[in-house]
Amino acid sequence: MVKFFSTILCTIMLALPLTGCTGTIQNAEKNHQSESKPPKDPNNDNQYPNQSTATSGNTSSDTEAQKYSNTDSIQVIAKPKSIPVLVNKQNKLPDSYNPSDLIYAKIPFVNTAGAEKRKMRKEAAAAIEKLFAEAKQQDVNLLGVSAYRSHATQITLFNYYVKRDGYKKARTYSALPGTSEHETGLAIDVTGGNGKCQAQDCFGGTKEAIWLQTHAAEYGFIIRYPKGKSSITGYKYEPWHIRYVGKAIAIEIMDRGITLEEYYQATPVNK
Ligand SMILES: [Zn+2]
Repeated sequence: MVKFFSTILCTIMLALPLTGCTGTIQNAEKNHQSESKPPKDPNNDNQYPNQSTATSGNTSSDTEAQKYSNTDSIQVIAKPKSIPVLVNKQNKLPDSYNPSDLIYAKIPFVNTAGAEKRKMRKEAAAAIEKLFAEAKQQDVNLLGVSAYRSHATQITLFNYYVKRDGYKKARTYSALPGTSEHETGLAIDVTGGNGKCQAQDCFGGTKEAIWLQTHAAEYGFIIRYPKGKSSITGYKYEPWHIRYVGKAIAIEIMDRGITLEEYYQATPVNK
């Protein structure tokens, strides 16, 4: 019996750092997300835009995902509209949140990307268009893979995995609804122009990945899940997942080689 539980525990502990930014059913199956004073959020006097006393516990639940999330001490984000919002396994978007300013990003996408995935919030869409245009000028051809994912889509996806593999296993590769950055409309998975290595480790080290690492911040984006930071972000290295946070914050984060969690001095996810 003891052996049984320790096996289960080890499986979970080993699997956690491998959790990726599960995109579609197909790519989720393949993969799968400070020394200085905390900066002020421009829209809030609080320490950071997520600060909230509310938790997702003990609320009425009408989906399996919501019911399960009650077992974790996950904070509900107070200011989900904030551009530099921190969304991770401990900070979830309110169930009712849907970005109100989504537009189609006018960039080339892989053929398999459906309409929803081509959307981003207005400011992020304008920034990604500039980034793609400048990359192309420098002979770096990028393609969008997956940007926005609605809360409803994430619930459907997560519940599908729970039914198929059980809750514990599903958690190792699929984000709980509300905790995926793709629901903010501020994140996008990209790949190289040849369409290979979509949301896969082989994207790391490519010309496109190196360009993003060097230049993404100039357009307000960060490499959200950097190498060697999985104990802080809760996700393994994902060179393809970039997140819009605004230029000033992006430059500071990338220059200092830190994560969004460290920028806010938030609790490491896997601690
Ligand atoms: Zn992603």
